[in-house]
Amino acid sequence: MTRWITCRELIDFLWRYLEGEVSEEERLEFEYHLARCPTCVAYMNSYKETVSLGRAAFEDLEAPAPPEVPEDLVAAILTARRSLPG
Ligand SMILES: [Zn+2]
Repeated sequence: MTRWITCRELIDFLWRYLEGEVSEEERLEFEYHLARCPTCVAYMNSYKETVSLGRAAFEDLEAPAPPEVPEDLVAAILTARRSLPG
């Protein structure tokens, strides 16, 4: 019979499951738990979303560098700082 793992155990090896790095037995335990625990299903969905957002952010690092900050914006910031008290 498939062992009932705790929510904590499931969360601990969630990333391994998503990477496909679990044994057949672990996968069965994982899916057995998910089939009965909507909390962990919701957690996994938000985890997947976070991972895909993280990948999207990483891809942005590969994007071309943004254009230079306009000179007049720099001047405006310096002027504003100079006008601050102190
Ligand atoms: Zn759970």
